[in-house]
Amino acid sequence: MEQILKNDDVVKMLNAIKETNELYSQNNEKHIKNFAKNQNPICTLIMCCDSRAHTTSFTYHPENNFFIVRNIGNQYILNQGCVEYGVRVLGTPLLIFLGHTACGAVNAALDDYSDLHSSIIREIDHLALSVKKAEINPNCSHEEKWRDAVINNVNQQVGLALKDFSDLRNNKTLAVLGMVLDIDNSLKHGHGKISLVNLNGETDLQKLADNEFIRQFF
Ligand SMILES: [Zn+2]
Repeated sequence: MEQILKNDDVVKMLNAIKETNELYSQNNEKHIKNFAKNQNPICTLIMCCDSRAHTTSFTYHPENNFFIVRNIGNQYILNQGCVEYGVRVLGTPLLIFLGHTACGAVNAALDDYSDLHSSIIREIDHLALSVKKAEINPNCSHEEKWRDAVINNVNQQVGLALKDFSDLRNNKTLAVLGMVLDIDNSLKHGHGKISLVNLNGETDLQKLADNEFIRQFF
């Protein structure tokens, strides 16, 4: 057997996958049969690949509820077709962009990333657009800039999607939300808390906080 497969971490991970999946398939057979033929998700979700950002932070039941697209920096452009499929073909009434604090992709976009592999550069280029476009106070600390760039990036992605789905917004069959999962507590609401930063293009946090409907959830 290859040495890499005998690596302690690899063995531990493969065991965890086996044990977890055995329990999952035993305990959820009936539930899975319900959606075995068709999927009917409620939400198309775009989130970062980051290993610290997971659906476990907001749902115990991702199956058949979330149609999930993941890429570095939770970008719309990189997987436009997947997002279109979720929104237009599966018809999810909800489209969410979920960014996260301490995002390495956003941090790279804030800095010189020319040393990275060309395929990675290509993916970060779109983030650089978000960061460049954003009004980030040049006098604040790097941590604050990073946090603000994460929010600005979510807003940029929501803005791009709103343009493409303007027909669905006009007939009110789609809501587009931007959220941030706070991993490093830089938003100061607690590690792991999710904040709403954009609702159908509204980015004024005070207005969002004052919205009675929204206040029930965030
Ligand atoms: Zn990230």
